[in-house]
Amino acid sequence: MIELRTPAEIDAMRPAGRFVAETLQTLRDEVTVGTNLLAIDRRAHELIRRAGAESCYIDYAPSFGSGPFGKVICTSINDAVLHGMPHDYAVRDGDLVTLDFAVSVDGWVADSAVSFVVGTPRDEDLALIETTERALAAGIAAAQPGGKVGDISAAIAEVAHGAGLSINTDFGGHGVGRTMHGDPHIPNNGRAGRGFPLKPGLVVAIEPWFLHTTDKLKTDEDDGWTLRSADGSRGAHSEHTIAITPDGPLILTDRSEL
Ligand code: MG
Ligand code: MG
Repeated sequence: MIELRTPAEIDAMRPAGRFVAETLQTLRDEVTVGTNLLAIDRRAHELIRRAGAESCYIDYAPSFGSGPFGKVICTSINDAVLHGMPHDYAVRDGDLVTLDFAVSVDGWVADSAVSFVVGTPRDEDLALIETTERALAAGIAAAQPGGKVGDISAAIAEVAHGAGLSINTDFGGHGVGRTMHGDPHIPNNGRAGRGFPLKPGLVVAIEPWFLHTTDKLKTDEDDGWTLRSADGSRGAHSEHTIAITPDGPLILTDRSEL
């Protein structure tokens, strides 16, 4: 079921969005060469407790994962791109790090992800990250009242294809509200003018993610969660939670003014 939020409800979702934005910004600033992924999870947990927020991940046990996630943040490194399970690994110079974070504050969820390079970057990694960010910006710009979900999908796909990347549609954006994942699904590829109408009050996460040289994923056998590229090439992921308002999209997890 797709639920539309009143302006008052969208206002009530702002603290969750702001907390997710601030936490990702803090963690991004703190992660350096040598930071252990388990320390990132502990730090995120501390920030959640301090804020009185609630993790959406720790008890999360969907059909595609292996039991409850047990951690509060996804840390996907290099060829890992989605659902990266924090484990005993110290970040190395040049690693491409993706942090994906979702919590509930006052009963409302926000979900956002960011990719960045720690230390000395490879040009191709910076280009991949830039493409996911540009695809996210294009998807958000297409999230206009009166449009359709396919407008968002087509805008994302145009950026990806322009950069010569192929697209996996197994995982994409989704409705956000009292829970992390709701309808509508927002694939990262599709046709403009098709799909569910974008109405004021619709709150969704938009989340393009791409791999350098493949669109195929494999699940990490050790943890049953982490999704890696099938060919070992690196991946990047950018996500914001947005509300569609009569004036256009409102980015609830915006970090640009932090
Ligand atoms: Mg997310
Ligand atoms: Mg999401």
